[in-house]
Amino acid sequence: MLSDASKKLALILGEGAALATAKLEGKPLPEVSPEPKAIWDGVQENHARIDGCAGPHAFEKIDPARVIGSKWRCTLCGGLVDGAYKVAYEQGREHERGTRGA
Ligand SMILES: [Zn+2]
Repeated sequence: MLSDASKKLALILGEGAALATAKLEGKPLPEVSPEPKAIWDGVQENHARIDGCAGPHAFEKIDPARVIGSKWRCTLCGGLVDGAYKVAYEQGREHERGTRGA
């Protein structure tokens, strides 16, 4: 028997996957429940901020005390990213400048 929390998570994941699949296939987005839709809209808004940033992004850790699962916000565009995105972005900039290991 699934708990209410597990059922809610399954709903969010299932409907989120339906939204992502429709977007990837270029189809109209399906009607989904309010919570998955709100999460989807938030993710799309964040992608728009990141993609539209004049750059370069200037990431600040939003919770300095947190070690695992840290999030970083760009002070220019307000976009929110995880540590893997931040590290890859900054490594790419170093490679482009040729300053990696300098
Ligand atoms: Zn930015």
